[in-house]
Amino acid sequence: MNAPLPSTSLFPLFADLRDRPVLVVGGGTVAQRKVEALLLAGASPVVGSPELSEGLQVLLEKGHIRWRADEFSDDWLDEAWLVIAATDDAAVNHAVADAAAARRILANVVDDAELSSFHVPALVQRGPLQIAISSGGGAPMLARHIRRQLETLLDDSLGTLAELLIRQRERIRTRFPKLGARRRFFERLLAGPLPRLLRQRLDGEQADAYLQEMLRDDKALQPVGSVALVGAGPGDPGLVTLNALRAMNEADVILHDRLVSAEVLRLARRDATRIEVGKSAGRHSMSQEQIHALMLEHARQGKRVVRLKGGDPFVFGRGGEELEFLRAHGIAFEVIPGITAAVACAAYAGIPLTHRDHAQSLRLVTAHCKDSLDTLDWQALAQDKQTLAVYMGVAGLEKVRERLLLAGVDPHLPFALVENGSRPQQRVITGMLASLPESARHHRVQSPALLILGEVAALADSLHWFGAAPLASQHSDNLGAPTLPQAA
Ligand code: SAH
Repeated sequence: MNAPLPSTSLFPLFADLRDRPVLVVGGGTVAQRKVEALLLAGASPVVGSPELSEGLQVLLEKGHIRWRADEFSDDWLDEAWLVIAATDDAAVNHAVADAAAARRILANVVDDAELSSFHVPALVQRGPLQIAISSGGGAPMLARHIRRQLETLLDDSLGTLAELLIRQRERIRTRFPKLGARRRFFERLLAGPLPRLLRQRLDGEQADAYLQEMLRDDKALQPVGSVALVGAGPGDPGLVTLNALRAMNEADVILHDRLVSAEVLRLARRDATRIEVGKSAGRHSMSQEQIHALMLEHARQGKRVVRLKGGDPFVFGRGGEELEFLRAHGIAFEVIPGITAAVACAAYAGIPLTHRDHAQSLRLVTAHCKDSLDTLDWQALAQDKQTLAVYMGVAGLEKVRERLLLAGVDPHLPFALVENGSRPQQRVITGMLASLPESARHHRVQSPALLILGEVAALADSLHWFGAAPLASQHSDNLGAPTLPQAA
């Protein structure tokens, strides 16, 4: 005779427990959680325990469960399809497992893989779609960890998609009776725009109509390219949104700015084509027209393009122009916001952008070039009780100081310069407006850096929590007589 194959893995199965009695021994909160899960699967739980938790009482009163108000006895198993032992008494749990084994009823003993003849997996659920994860009971923490990862990757619209495919199952089978053809249909369907449309706007009825159109007309199944305009946040990969992560995982092509950190890019699908389209402050390796042309070229080839931008795509990111271009060329698009530099840098420097005592409003401005400096309303920017967040300002700090002082701002107004905000190499320099350009030069501040001006900036000195403490300005001593620039 052959020796039995050694096995360390469990046989995975999904059990249909609708209207089937399942015995839960124990009446506490652990038992209650098991009962609730069983009810979701349509089972008829029978709870055996001298006492019931409050929640179980409620379920009993509503008629959702039955109750055997007693100590465990073997004959409770007579009617059960499965049994779960959830008492805090090891001897009782043992007795339940033994009795179940004698009757060949599968038993789960909560938190005891050895005693259990079936395990309850960690679960990710999207509508009728269920993904069960098991480590064979040996490493439940790892299974839970993977469950959390899947939770972030799997979009909510998958549930809607599963419902749609269940509703249309017969139609699809009739149209493609052969398995091979059916499989190819599904591959094209799922790689196409349907998942995106479900996320964006289709309701159930429209989705049915859309799928039936696909079944009628083969051409409708041609891949349709699209562009997602995605904000990558300021650099810390933890600040990427779940939607951005999903888009990066589905992308065929990623066109990214230089500002997007390597840590964030590492989250993207391995085999996506990555193209750096430059565009970090001061250096333009590719013109806006060239970027437009690249998006168009790839989308027209049916590719899913992710246009990945630092921070948020609509804050000093020319995202609007890119969408107008796509719209003019009939390319489908979506926009996924990101955490913009002002929000991230302030948080990571310990600077509340608004504060009841110091600032009631926040202005985002850019000091990119002479033009942008000239068009700003400096009188408005000089108001007190507000916070200014100045983007792309490193080269323009002299001018920013000059105009603000001319507009009457107090030279003692605190500033904070945040370089590489949210990244491991983050630096924060604090000081007063009067010495702003000098201290930036002294500390050799480089792009990307964000300037925060306003009373709140001083709070960085006490509220900082990330990375190194703020570097104090070396020039605050000579504040006695700030040199006011002469009006031109
Ligand atoms: N769309 C981006 C801004 C692009 S403009 C956003 O929403 O954040 C580029 C400017 O943003 C830089 O010059 C700098 O001022 C600022 N910036 C972006 N990321 C930054 C970071 N990690 N730290 C500091 N400043 C940053």
